[in-house]
Amino acid sequence: MHDVIVVGGGPVGSRIAHMLVRLGWAVTVLEKEGKVGNKLSCTGIIGQECVHNFDIDESVILRKVKSARLFSPAGKILYIKRDECQASILDRVAFDLAMAQRAQNAGARYIFGGAVHDIRITKEGVEAYCMGRGGSLAAKVVVIASGHGTRLTERMGFGKAADFVAGAQTEVATSGQDEVEVYFGREVAPGFFGWLVPTTAGNARVGLLSRHAPEKHLKKLLDYLVSEGKIVPGEWKPSYGAIPLRPLRRTYGERVLVVGDAAGQVKPTTGGGIYYGMLCADIAASTLDRALHKNDVSAKNLSRYEQEWKRRLGRELMIGYRARKLFERLSDQQVDHLFDVMEKNRIGEALLEAEDVSFDWHSQAILKLLRRAVVARIFGGIRLPFWGGNDI
Ligand SMILES: Cc1cc2nc3c(=O)[nH]c(=O)nc-3n(C[C@H](O)[C@H](O)[C@H](O)COP(=O)(O)OP(=O)(O)OC[C@H]3O[C@@H](n4cnc5c(N)ncnc54)[C@H](O)[C@@H]3O)c2cc1C
Repeated sequence: MHDVIVVGGGPVGSRIAHMLVRLGWAVTVLEKEGKVGNKLSCTGIIGQECVHNFDIDESVILRKVKSARLFSPAGKILYIKRDECQASILDRVAFDLAMAQRAQNAGARYIFGGAVHDIRITKEGVEAYCMGRGGSLAAKVVVIASGHGTRLTERMGFGKAADFVAGAQTEVATSGQDEVEVYFGREVAPGFFGWLVPTTAGNARVGLLSRHAPEKHLKKLLDYLVSEGKIVPGEWKPSYGAIPLRPLRRTYGERVLVVGDAAGQVKPTTGGGIYYGMLCADIAASTLDRALHKNDVSAKNLSRYEQEWKRRLGRELMIGYRARKLFERLSDQQVDHLFDVMEKNRIGEALLEAEDVSFDWHSQAILKLLRRAVVARIFGGIRLPFWGGNDI
């Protein structure tokens, strides 16, 4: 019998597999596609903290970013810049492949073309049933890392993401664009934002996250960028995806853990899920290591995983989600006003200088922002339920 089955060969599944085989456990990854690296809708921006903590190889990084230009609905611009590189833009296909190769080199076995459609838990172990090539496979525990929208969490009684946002993105040719641009406004991306992210010379990703009709809004954004001379007209082939904005209520059970997008471990502020998912992958791997050594993979013993990831990320996810809901209530005029207030009061600069504000950790920036009376007024004197607790 295998020790661990990991469902999903995305970055989170591969990270868990890698950590567990290094600890000496026999791990099989079941991936429904014929290969890894299928997430073409993902922009692949990660902070430098993620690059360093997970030793991301330079060969999968397309570009490093120090600055960005934020556009309000009426076209006001906020320019944010730090002296050091803040983020890296990944070749997402190469990154997923590299993560899987690390796990394989360490000894993890991958079965491709094996879409898991059911998992049964018994007193003796778990059994995963695949459509296609995998047949059925038995192990002591299973990790569900099959991304957002997986049916397995519902099937196993964990439910599904209570809130999510849809996204669309395409590769484009640019007219020498070399700065990241972010676009706000109900006409651009209702409830979220759109982006132009340069990758290699003359190329970029244009995409958006939106509460509805991402394909329609992407078309409008592309037409606008063409009219501004920023990108070159072309035969665009958008990819679509979605991002959970809230974690599942429960992410562990008897012989099972749920990790990454499948668990909703994503920054609700930006939709970035790679870093938080991989942090949780490490927590999952160390919980399983201890549980397997003790031969106790009961729900009670595995609950440590959820305690630990909530201790690490709970406050960030809670504050980020509430801030997102507040932001979504703003009209375009209020967002323009927010841009004005931030520029006039040099709030952007102050946030950039703060040591506890970074690409990956947003709660301090949100709290500092909302503590400014000029900013709080824009949100209409909303009583902020932000101040205590980790309740998500
Ligand atoms: C438009 C868009 C832009 C984004 N931009 C960013 C960004 O810039 N930065 C960032 O950090 N994050 C971004 N994200 C989020 C990021 O893509 C995810 O958080 C990340 O991919 C999560 O990794 P994962 O391994 O949990 O899931 P996934 O990457 O989704 O991997 C899940 C894997 O499981 C496989 N699978 C699914 N079902 C089954 C099954 N039944 N059986 C077997 N295998 C299965 C899938 O084929 C896939 O390989 C973006 C997402 C979208 C939609």
